[in-house]
Amino acid sequence: MRWLKTWIALMLTVCFSLQMNTSSYAVTMDMPGELLPWSEVQYIIPRYSKFQVVEPESGLVFSVQRRAGSSHADVQPLTKNDTEIMKQIYEGKWSWERRAVIVVTEDNRRIAGSMHGMPHGGDGIPGNAFKGHFCIHFLGSTTHKSGHVDPGHQWMVHKAAGQIESYLNALTPEDQIAAWIVALNQQDESMIRQMYKGSQHNPDELEKLLADLKTIDAARLLETRKKEKESTPSQEALTYEKHSVIAVQRKNDKMRNKSCLFRFARDSASQPWRLESFEIH
Ligand SMILES: [Zn+2]
Repeated sequence: MRWLKTWIALMLTVCFSLQMNTSSYAVTMDMPGELLPWSEVQYIIPRYSKFQVVEPESGLVFSVQRRAGSSHADVQPLTKNDTEIMKQIYEGKWSWERRAVIVVTEDNRRIAGSMHGMPHGGDGIPGNAFKGHFCIHFLGSTTHKSGHVDPGHQWMVHKAAGQIESYLNALTPEDQIAAWIVALNQQDESMIRQMYKGSQHNPDELEKLLADLKTIDAARLLETRKKEKESTPSQEALTYEKHSVIAVQRKNDKMRNKSCLFRFARDSASQPWRLESFEIH
């Protein structure tokens, strides 16, 4: 019977350490990650290094390896189990939606990042049931092809760092429109609420908008009207309006071009701009 005792002791140790492992990563947004620029992060998580990704909203944790990427990290889940956990974060459906995450390194550094959930491109880890890689952006990361800083990822990086308010305060109306389109595209209620926070918006209009958000599948900014293309608010302006054309796809419908109007206001020239209303026609 000695083997049985040993086996039970062993199992208890395994269960205990598993539990310890889980609880030490059960983090919330109250424990933000460090806001570190990609120029530094790239050396903290060099190519082929392994680290953990924590998604604070679900509390889920999975392990990845950085395989490539020069302007952000291209990573892959380590095992089939890690892939399954990642898929759970996306409610079982792979998506380009940006999510605030905290990258936890082997020496326990916690860095604010933003991931998407769509396997694509080059593969490399056999047997992990993940076809390709996915991207994790950090402060100042840029995309593969265009070399642009992605407004959705930068929003989520600041959210992961617990600095969303100061980030939003520093955004120009133009940058806020870009963030707004991200919120529509990924039906992100918390982004919409955050952008309306502290503005003189109509609460009924906000609730209507949030209900409408559920009917949207995808959205992207097409253009701003030509004659207004160059216009930016003057230094002293306290209100600012912008007409734009956006492509919107509603559920069970095709992509349709819609004109919309953004209205911004601020209390004084030194105060941050706030979106007050959004009309779509
Ligand atoms: Zn990438």
